[in-house]
Amino acid sequence: MSTSVLVINCGSSSIKYALVSERREDRIFGLAENLGSADARIKGVTTGGAALELSIPHADHEKALETILERLAHHNPQAIGHRVVHGGTLTKAELLTPEIIERIREATPLAPLHNPAHLVGIEATMRLFPELPQVAVFDTAFHQTMPSHAYRYALPKFLYTQHNVRRYGFHGTSHAYVSERGSMLAGSFKQGGWLTAHLGNGSSTCAIWNGQSVDTSMGLTPLEGVVMGTRSGDVDPSIHSFLASNLGWDIYKIDKMLNSQSGLLGLSDLSNDMRTLIEASEQGNEDAALAIEVFCYRLAKSLAGLSCGLPRIDGLFFTGGIGENSAYIREKTVSYLPHFGFNLSKELNDNLKRGTEGRIDHGTGPQIWVVPTDEEGRIAKETEHVVDEVTASATKKPDAEAAIA
Ligand code: ADP
Repeated sequence: MSTSVLVINCGSSSIKYALVSERREDRIFGLAENLGSADARIKGVTTGGAALELSIPHADHEKALETILERLAHHNPQAIGHRVVHGGTLTKAELLTPEIIERIREATPLAPLHNPAHLVGIEATMRLFPELPQVAVFDTAFHQTMPSHAYRYALPKFLYTQHNVRRYGFHGTSHAYVSERGSMLAGSFKQGGWLTAHLGNGSSTCAIWNGQSVDTSMGLTPLEGVVMGTRSGDVDPSIHSFLASNLGWDIYKIDKMLNSQSGLLGLSDLSNDMRTLIEASEQGNEDAALAIEVFCYRLAKSLAGLSCGLPRIDGLFFTGGIGENSAYIREKTVSYLPHFGFNLSKELNDNLKRGTEGRIDHGTGPQIWVVPTDEEGRIAKETEHVVDEVTASATKKPDAEAAIA
């Protein structure tokens, strides 16, 4: 179908939205923030790239969604795609039915900060727009192709069989889009072995073989893996008992520290923002310089580890705010991977225009590309795909029933 799809990403006090149509340049998008407070507002970009700023005092999710849809109604969106962080063991995007909503609710213990907010948004849009098909697209789904030796923890078996404790992986929409787009640019669409580095406030890496995720850095929750803005990434799990025994910290304090006060912010004692750290490091701030070094070294170590999941490495894709915009971080990361034959071109890397895609190696060894991610575009595409499938099976049904009769 040729449609525009409204993509919605509901957080606890915010809603990101994008109206995705054929051309990426025509996209209308925005953010409703501070929901539930006097300062609630919508900020975004509307038709023709014009800025939008709208105060919606005390609006809740439902009111904000109503306002967003009212403003977009004349664009006639034909479906709504919801980003959902945790789909448990759901392997692909799904049309929202009471059963799928229940499965999202069941996965809540695995994503206690995200799934409840998504459910608020889903329930509000279903009440407001019952006639529009709505689809959930899961961050975890792309990684459901990981083999068990990649997704199981070396923990007692019952924790997996009875409590679903395993590695799930996140940022799946981004890794799927970037590896698909990148392999197409490289002339081997969904073929071969690729590493992706999605580097934003949250960061993760992924190994992809013939278009399927075979391993990724995030695990049961988005805390595992590489160093992030405020998240620690991998630490010795005994940190919990160490801090409890020696500092008397409880589990909530430790969890908060690992999720919100660690990573680049914790190391630098300055900021979670990579741009700020690069500037500070240039001015001689040693903590900022160390934070950057740890970030790049641990990132390279993660990519090297994930390469075990690939029969061969055809290349590496950088994406996310840091991966797309920082030649310095890309160069430093590749410098920590001396055994893989990567041959980064300083000139191509430094001169790649921000926000554009391009190849940045010398043409020998595995390829290195920058591929700006497009999670909204991917969610819209998956939403269209699910709606098309459902429509096709609904129109086929009478024939099938006639054949059986
Ligand atoms: P999110 O995960 O919230 O979507 P983004 O993908 O937008 O985050 O990435 C945000 C990160 O990208 C921040 O750390 C920011 O400093 C970094 N970033 C953006 N532009 C640059 C740049 N030119 N150089 C270095 N880092 C940058």
